[in-house]
Formats: sequence, C-alpha cells, structure tokens
Amino acid sequence: MKISKFTVNPFGENTFILWTGEGGEAAVIDPGMSNSRECEALKRFLEDNRLTLKMVLLTHEHVDHIMGTGFLTEEYGCPVYGHAGDIVMGQKSDVQLRAFNLQCEMKPFAVTDEVTDGSVIELGDEKIEVLHTPGHSMGGVVYYMPESGCAFVGDTIFQMSIGRTDLAGGDYDTLINSIRMKLMVLPEETVLYPGHGGATTVGDERQYNPFLK
Ligand SMILES: [Zn+2]
Repeated sequence: MKISKFTVNPFGENTFILWTGEGGEAAVIDPGMSNSRECEALKRFLEDNRLTLKMVLLTHEHVDHIMGTGFLTEEYGCPVYGHAGDIVMGQKSDVQLRAFNLQCEMKPFAVTDEVTDGSVIELGDEKIEVLHTPGHSMGGVVYYMPESGCAFVGDTIFQMSIGRTDLAGGDYDTLINSIRMKLMVLPEETVLYPGHGGATTVGDERQYNPFLK
C-alpha cells in the first residue's frame, strides 16, 4: 500500500491518502482541507494517479480532521467511516469552527458507516483493522494495517507526546489507557502516522515517550 501525506489547514493537520498503485483504489484518512486550493491539490493527486476514491476514514471528528470531508463526498459520493462516539461532535462543526475562530466554508457530510473496536475494512486486497482508542475524544479510533506494518493514530499519540485531553470528550487516564492497551501492544516496528507532525514507531514511543514512563 502506498501512503501519501498532505499537511493542511491552520492546524497543520496531516491528511493521508492510502492507495494501491496507479489506476487503483484509494482511501483518504482525515480530510482536513480548509480551502479550495487544498481541496483541488488533493483532487489533482487522485486524478494524476487515476485513483478511484473508495472511502473516507475518520480517526475522530475534531474540526481540523474533517473540514474537507464534505468536499470529497460531494465530488466522489464515497462512504465515510467513523465511530459513533464522535458523530454528534462532527455534526456541530460550526460550533467547533467558532470555538477556534476559524473562517472556512465547510460542506456538510454524514458518517455513513459506523465502526467499532474490531471492525475490519478492506482496501484493495489489504485489511484495515479498527482499534477504538478513546481519550482525546470519545469516538477516537486508530486504523491499523498489519500487513503494511503501520497505523494511522489521529491525535491519540504523537512523536514523544500525546493528544490533548482538554477538548470535548477528552480524558487523560482514558487516553493513556488506550495508548498502553491498544497501541503499545502492537509490534515494535509498527510505524505510527499521527494527525500532526512526523511519523514514529511503537518501539520508539515505548522507549522514549515521556507520558508513558
Ligand atoms: Zn483532535
């Protein structure tokens, strides 16, 4: 599976494209595009590689991770996967935009496919496992791809840091528990792709993350 990253919006959010190869299938994880330039760049990427967008996968529904979702569903009519725990928050994206004092035009969307811990999604011939990892938000999930040896962790964990727990639905102990029980048990070479900043590995975070000491 190929992985491409677009860093977008005022929060520097990582929007990932998973794709099977030129002319193949694609999934977009956390479409955070906040303006037409960012939307068009992603569209152009799909076109240049002749990709069929099969789905949008949401790790959670803080506004910086979902802003571009409506653009994709309108343009491609693809399903949107997300956890029930964040759906109400996602529906209140206008409240979130105001809270962060953001001026952006966000097209509406709906989660069409609810995922829970243990759900399996297929893209091409690869399986994507859903791990429920609440704590940063109630409905936070990680998309784990055992065959590719990587996981898209949203804002649960960052290189040497963890997600904030002061936003709606956040809880520190719950987050630490999710990280320990769901992520740190994965093979140590597993690459973790967070929603902000660079990638890391399970082994590095086990060893060096100050919040897990
Ligand atoms: Zn977040």
